[in-house]
Amino acid sequence: MASNAFDLDMIRTNARALADQFGDKYWADADKHKKYPWEFIRAFADNGWLGVTMPEEYGGIGLGLTEAGVILHEIGESGGGHSGASAFQYYVFPPGPIIHHGSEEMKREYLPKLASGEIMMCFGVTEPDCGVDTSRIKTFAKKVGDRWIINGQKVWISNAQNADRILLLTRTSPRNDERPFDGMTLFFCDLDRTRVKVNRIEKLARNCIDSNELFIENLEARDEDVVGEVGQGFKCLIDGLNPERIAVAFAQIGTGRAALNKAVQYAKERVVFDRAIGKNQAIAHPLADSYIRLRSAELMAFEAARKFDAGLPCGEESNAAKFLATEAAFQAADRAMQTLGGYSYALEYHVERYWRETRLLKIAPVSQEMVLNYVSQRILDLPRSY
Ligand SMILES: Cc1cc2nc3c(=O)[nH]c(=O)nc-3n(C[C@H](O)[C@H](O)[C@H](O)COP(=O)(O)OP(=O)(O)OC[C@H]3O[C@@H](n4cnc5c(N)ncnc54)[C@H](O)[C@@H]3O)c2cc1C
Repeated sequence: MASNAFDLDMIRTNARALADQFGDKYWADADKHKKYPWEFIRAFADNGWLGVTMPEEYGGIGLGLTEAGVILHEIGESGGGHSGASAFQYYVFPPGPIIHHGSEEMKREYLPKLASGEIMMCFGVTEPDCGVDTSRIKTFAKKVGDRWIINGQKVWISNAQNADRILLLTRTSPRNDERPFDGMTLFFCDLDRTRVKVNRIEKLARNCIDSNELFIENLEARDEDVVGEVGQGFKCLIDGLNPERIAVAFAQIGTGRAALNKAVQYAKERVVFDRAIGKNQAIAHPLADSYIRLRSAELMAFEAARKFDAGLPCGEESNAAKFLATEAAFQAADRAMQTLGGYSYALEYHVERYWRETRLLKIAPVSQEMVLNYVSQRILDLPRSY
């Protein structure tokens, strides 16, 4: 179908109808049993949505971040929260560097398979010893004959239990203090389990999407697996940071609304001291305040997506949207916990899951502190602090 056959209302309705086939119980069960949501991914793949932002010539629909954002919002609000949003998102954003910097052969070979859900990828940047200071990664790729031999360690790599391929950031020359982001190379290569040990990390939330430590020993890659130019891998990666922040913002707003919706319903129905608890302003006002904050964050997310889709610089708006959405969503989930009182601790009401999941986004994929660092330095022109 041609891209112009889509409009946002149609996308919202279609995505929500699909997401509603799953809902709270499905996600709670997936979380509890750490089960990857294959049925959910299949439903979105079969309807073409996994390829929402991929170009049409590579099996996608060729739409923008605005449309992807609407889908993520609906997944979040349907009860999928960050679990559902992550499952979807890892098909949509990690391929960005391949779309923009991959060779024609790489795009033809892999993008259609990602868009159809035939293969899964993961995204390997973070390392145990350097955290948010990415230029200090140590995973090294060395050219030996016609092969690259990669050794190192990664941590927190989502999807690695099932991924077929990995987008892997390595160093190919030692760090130079003058140009710390040069000398890194991005590979999109097989996640060969005879060379990479993948250990699952037990964690607080979003347990249906695995997070892993990777021990990489003599992993082989070919020249054809290099994304963009050797030594310029970080530049390829950085293009994907704004879209990821915008995507996360939409998903958070959806999840925050899921929590708020539950709280509002409960506040109308729960009677204590002979009246609905929602009659108390101590209950009603925080919920009204959360409604306003979520709506404001949404406007910023739409503005960021609009600018990105128009090819305009959008660093300020993307960072602001991610920051505002994360604060608003976590606060909405926390207030929902308070509104439900003791029952908020019962798994059957699901707000504890929204609360756990929205908290994650203060830390990853980019921490709130690093967003503030960006705004301090790049927008306010304050001295660099990191
Ligand atoms: C569930 C989950 C999934 C993830 N998935 C992936 C994935 O698929 N692929 C991948 O590559 N990574 C992934 N990550 C990693 C994630 O992006 C990092 O955890 C995140 O970047 C933070 O790194 P760190 O934990 O090492 O924090 P650290 O760098 O150790 O920082 C600790 C704290 O100090 C703050 N801090 C550090 N320096 C400064 C400074 N100069 N100014 C202000 N504050 C500072 C940070 O903001 C943070 O709050 C995931 C993480 C989690 C938790």
